[in-house]
Amino acid sequence: MSLENIDRVAVLGAGNMGHGITEVTAMAGYDVTMRDIKDEFVDDGYESIEWSLRKLEEKEMIDEPADEVLSRIETTTDLAEAVADADLVIEAAPEELDLKHDIFSDLEEYTSDDTLLATNTSSLPITDIAEVVDSAERVLGLHFFNPPVKMDLVEVIYGEETSDEAAEAGYEWVESIDKTPIYVRKDVRGFVVNTIVGPFGGEPAWMVSEGEATIRQADAAMVHQRGYPMGPFELGDLTGIDVGYHVRKEGGSPIPPITEEKVEAGELGQKTGKGFYDYEDGDGADYEPGDGEGFDTLRVEARMINRAAYLVGEGVAKPEEVDTGVQLGLGFPEGICRRADKIGLDTVLEKLETFHEETGAERFEPHHYLEELVDDGDTGEDAGAGFYDYDDDGELGPFHNLNYQLEDGLLQVELDRPSRLNALSADLLAEIDDLFASVDTDEVRCATIEGAGDQAFSAGADISGFSDADPTDLMDVTPTFETVNDFPRPVVAKIDGFCLGGGLELALACDLRIATERSSFGSPEIGLGLIPGGGGTQRLTRILGETRAKELVFRGNHIDADRAEDWGLINRSVDRTEFDGTVDEFVDDLRTGPPIGLKVAKKVMNEGQDASLDAALALESQGFGLLTSTDDVLEGTVAFAEDREPEFEGE
Ligand code: NAD
Repeated sequence: MSLENIDRVAVLGAGNMGHGITEVTAMAGYDVTMRDIKDEFVDDGYESIEWSLRKLEEKEMIDEPADEVLSRIETTTDLAEAVADADLVIEAAPEELDLKHDIFSDLEEYTSDDTLLATNTSSLPITDIAEVVDSAERVLGLHFFNPPVKMDLVEVIYGEETSDEAAEAGYEWVESIDKTPIYVRKDVRGFVVNTIVGPFGGEPAWMVSEGEATIRQADAAMVHQRGYPMGPFELGDLTGIDVGYHVRKEGGSPIPPITEEKVEAGELGQKTGKGFYDYEDGDGADYEPGDGEGFDTLRVEARMINRAAYLVGEGVAKPEEVDTGVQLGLGFPEGICRRADKIGLDTVLEKLETFHEETGAERFEPHHYLEELVDDGDTGEDAGAGFYDYDDDGELGPFHNLNYQLEDGLLQVELDRPSRLNALSADLLAEIDDLFASVDTDEVRCATIEGAGDQAFSAGADISGFSDADPTDLMDVTPTFETVNDFPRPVVAKIDGFCLGGGLELALACDLRIATERSSFGSPEIGLGLIPGGGGTQRLTRILGETRAKELVFRGNHIDADRAEDWGLINRSVDRTEFDGTVDEFVDDLRTGPPIGLKVAKKVMNEGQDASLDAALALESQGFGLLTSTDDVLEGTVAFAEDREPEFEGE
């Protein structure tokens, strides 16, 4: 059982999840058979896939024709036929244990012992599902999120019997379809993501039930003060109040009275027209930023952090995995462990202890892992360690919001907040600054910056939480852009998708910009009553001239990549299929070019823009003079004479 052996996949169920899983599997190049119990269900699922692929094709989000992807998908109602040649089976049938038992019993009969058997269950223990399979070591959870085409995360869950080999094969397969896996090493209720989201909805429901807060107050505070993508009640209405209710009931947890009342009244959320908000006669989730005043956000976050401590302390997941899970699975603005380290674990523990003493409620009982961290003095970032270690051991990072790779002189940086369209949060800006300021420039000949996911380079500054921020903090954004601008090696912005606001300013701080045709550019700040605050007003004027710069800044509109190329905002606008190749051509030239020559060229050209022509020319002559004494110039002239490629050493 390993990734190399997985060629053919079977998906059981063509419903919401099954058709989506089939689609992403085929998009990644696998042959896949989708099975449901009736032709009409199979046909509905197939039509949904077809519709979605055509949309993706239209938006240039796939690199091959939709028909090509569709040609890899087969459908059937015959289980034996569906799984006969499959190397991996993913079950996405309704959430009923008996039904899943029937399916897995049949799978035992129709598949060979080395076929990997996965279930997409959200709430049933993998161990219980695997009970009916003799070779339970090959059964694992592959928990996709809805909709699979958009959601990057997949939880890879161990049942009690699951072998490492099976889990690793599942994990690598998830990577091979371009999704992000996280291990869930123990078969705990809710796995990682739903374990954390429980208190996000549950605690505010208790607070409202006990008359300590209002619905709008809770939603406004969590969204506008703490940057969550949705308020807890708004989210409850979207997913269905009955869903959370049943999860709690099955888990034997007490149910907040307000949730009970809503379920009894049949007011289940958007799907019934009424829930915590009124969607028929009212305006839906109509809370305003100011409504959040006075809400105890720490009480909610402390409970989520306590759950994170449980997951980490019990060896279910590592802090990085919990954080990836909540960011990709729930769109949280930052990881919950990271947030805990910023708040201070002592503060969190105190909050839990206070409520535990006052109410006696079990849900506030601090997990021993949290107590141990605090006892050891590992109270978070300020103390140098918490969930994460912040000791400066001379190594770069750790980075939680970006990835980088330094190989053969090329520093590749990826902004890694795809669930927020790689928006520049204060943490991400600090990490970019840290990386470019601390990396050993002798090891770097050229750098590239790109965005993770397939939607954006970066869609702007992360403005969630702005209303709560100190204006002087916000004025700190510029140094990051200056660090990139002053980096002594050429930096290339590799833009595919949105490049807006702060994202555009980051691209402007780079030396060269190459974009796919579908990309769009703009400075929408004026629509918020703001102006670009990361050098945008000045760099746009220098690059585009006043006329076009003012159009972008004053109107706040987007322009497409062709116009951006026309205006000289970017170096090239290319078809998506030619994107990597074009960037590689640029990067190859920069990487093999003379490091000192490029450094001096960058400096003289950057600094010369702000000097008088005389002063700029003087800068240029100085640079020129300095270069004549380098070994690189000697190598360049000799190679030219010998008609060969020069090999510059940067000396
Ligand atoms: P769904 O009701 O939309 O689809 C289930 C499909 O399975 C239906 O088309 C049904 O006809 C079919 N089916 C029934 N018996 C079958 C069998 N024996 N073989 C093959 N197919 C069969 O449900 P869904 O939302 O796609 O959920 C499927 C699974 O995924 C559940 O276990 C659920 O917990 C899990 N899940 C759902 C979500 C979500 O948000 N919907 C997210 C993650 C995981």
